[in-house]
Amino acid sequence: MSEWLQDLATALGNPEAWQALRRVLTMFAVAEGWQYAAITFGFWFALHVLLRKRLAHRLISGWPRPGDVRREILYSASSLLLYSAGAAAILGLLAVGRVEIYAEPLKHGLAWLLLSLPVLIVWQDLCFYCTHRLMHTRWMFRHIHGVHHRSREPSPWAAYAMHPVEAMVNGGVPLLALGVVPVQEQVLGLFVLHQVLRNVHGHAAIESLPRGFARHWLWGRFTSTTHHHLHHETAQGNYGLWFTWWDRVFGTERADYLQRFDAATVLRPARAEAAVAGSAGAT
Ligand SMILES: [Zn+2]
Ligand SMILES: [Zn+2]
Repeated sequence: MSEWLQDLATALGNPEAWQALRRVLTMFAVAEGWQYAAITFGFWFALHVLLRKRLAHRLISGWPRPGDVRREILYSASSLLLYSAGAAAILGLLAVGRVEIYAEPLKHGLAWLLLSLPVLIVWQDLCFYCTHRLMHTRWMFRHIHGVHHRSREPSPWAAYAMHPVEAMVNGGVPLLALGVVPVQEQVLGLFVLHQVLRNVHGHAAIESLPRGFARHWLWGRFTSTTHHHLHHETAQGNYGLWFTWWDRVFGTERADYLQRFDAATVLRPARAEAAVAGSAGAT
């Protein structure tokens, strides 16, 4: 048995270690839970309550039903507990020296400090595309991924609403990178923040990005709310998480994506009329 496995076995037989693990788990669940709850509530309150009428023309298909929102919140809580267990496991690996999360920003050089966040994000996107395609195979969809797809018109709370097995896959697979590369602690914090923000944004039901975004040569490579919303609508195509490129490479982008994005970002009727009147007046 290798040394670290022996250390782990000793630690698992120690009741104090279990108490410490419980404390760490609670700490992560509370910290991550607050972050997720605050961001999701912020999106939901701003887009679905405060600006509901103003942004109605940007609704991609329909408003989420209250029953869906309740279910999404419950499943999100279960995912957060699992993510916390994962974070506690990482802490354990950190303690036995299998993972390096460092505090000193320049310990591994400026280049790695700046590159590590984009590298982790691109890696997570690739992992997600592959595992998401697997989740759409018949058995996986029926028994696991179907939970996430119960919301055809998702609310921001759908971001973490998934079967516990999927939560473990989504949360765990990208973090395998930590076994290979060292990561600065604030970079890891930004990685998690990016994940929450964009995941919640992708389930917002309202397209908040500017007109032309999806057709732009650079911004068009990033996914939009419409991109993921269409995935929920039909459970086919648009499997990407943060970028559109894997769907384009593998021919899985929905044919109606750009038109639907255009439709969700048309000008409000009153403003459109003013723009037409303005251009007529100018000629
Ligand atoms: Zn989704
Ligand atoms: Zn899916």
